[in-house]
Amino acid sequence: MNKKRKFKLSFPVEIINWDGRSVSLKSDREIAAQLEQLADAGISTVMPAGLHREEPLAFDLSKAAVRIGKIIRHYGFEISSHHCLLPVFAPLAESQTRVRQIMEETVRFCNQLGAATMVFHPGRISGRHSDVLSIFAGFEHEAAAHGVTRIIETAAGNLRYMAEKGAAADMRIALENVGKFEPLADIGLLPELVKTADMANIGFCVDSGHAHAFGESVPQWIKLAGNKLFETHFHDNHAALAGVTLPGAFIQSSKSSDEHLFPGSGTIPWDETVKALLEINYSGAVTFEVTVKPDADALSRYRKIIDWWRLVEAEAQKNIITG
Ligand SMILES: [Zn+2]
Repeated sequence: MNKKRKFKLSFPVEIINWDGRSVSLKSDREIAAQLEQLADAGISTVMPAGLHREEPLAFDLSKAAVRIGKIIRHYGFEISSHHCLLPVFAPLAESQTRVRQIMEETVRFCNQLGAATMVFHPGRISGRHSDVLSIFAGFEHEAAAHGVTRIIETAAGNLRYMAEKGAAADMRIALENVGKFEPLADIGLLPELVKTADMANIGFCVDSGHAHAFGESVPQWIKLAGNKLFETHFHDNHAALAGVTLPGAFIQSSKSSDEHLFPGSGTIPWDETVKALLEINYSGAVTFEVTVKPDADALSRYRKIIDWWRLVEAEAQKNIITG
């Protein structure tokens, strides 16, 4: 086991505005302000987030990728991944061509941005969704008509197409566990989707909060992903849905169930989580998917998370060394 490791730490940088009608880009100044704060906190890796491919875009994708990539490089940051949203399959009786086209455009966007890993939710049906209920309804309609296995095969086929486009540029797809907040995203179905896709550059982003909210074990998720763990989203909660019988197949995410607390503020076993990362010899970034308000206290909030992580990380390794 690799001892005395210090994981690379990464934080989100928001690049997108969403007004309910179209997706627009944040200004250079807004993006730079976030980067300056992270640089002050001693961070050198970021996760640009927010591109939403189910909605109309108010900007040119390619120009945006080049522009944002330039700002990020100007401040000397590495990119752990780009977190986006996109359709993974169209209704099974329809052509999958438009979904694949969006996937291909997204690969190009991430490549031009300088993000070698793309993270997205694995079970979204094509179309504009005013809320997540329409994603649930679309999935359930297809599942009733064709069965979940056929949906997985179709989604896996589209993902393989996307992964082949990405492989040429050494790019990876990390599918994020979203528990029962979205389809194909829990510890039962997401591993099946990744296995069916069967591509070296298709793996996982383990979101600690989405797992823990439903009582799925975060360390178990990490070990299950193993060498296919490409990215992490770490935040905390109090496992509000563990052992709860859900009213349906899915449940809408809410602030009470998916609290997105700073890590260490909920009940996730972080010591075991660090040990699992060490056990699989994880070489990627520990990305904290938390919102830090850009006010006068932002710097101290970033530092609090970083200091807390370094302590947990050191303690976990001390325990291993002393047995
Ligand atoms: Zn996440």
